[in-house]
Amino acid sequence: MFYVQSGTVTFETEDGPVEANAGDVVRFAPGEYQRGVNRGEDRVVALALGAPKESGDLDVRRVCPECDGRTPNAIRRADDGAGLVTVCEDCGVETGQFE
Ligand SMILES: [Zn+2]
Repeated sequence: MFYVQSGTVTFETEDGPVEANAGDVVRFAPGEYQRGVNRGEDRVVALALGAPKESGDLDVRRVCPECDGRTPNAIRRADDGAGLVTVCEDCGVETGQFE
């Protein structure tokens, strides 16, 4: 799914080109061919949102006492090797322990 914030994106699709302008949201089905290009004069600012087929990519967010808010966290094996810890990716502070 693409959200066009500014500029104009031309998506080449199997059914021909589709233009998306600022404020437009375009969704492509999984596996559907598309290629977005900027044919305009202006810079394009767009958000691309996708979900992986496999659930291997996790976005883990936890409250970090150091950063004072929810931050992206990495999951690592604890130093003693027995459990797992979550670590703030912004500052490196440990935010949780799991056995
Ligand atoms: Zn932090």
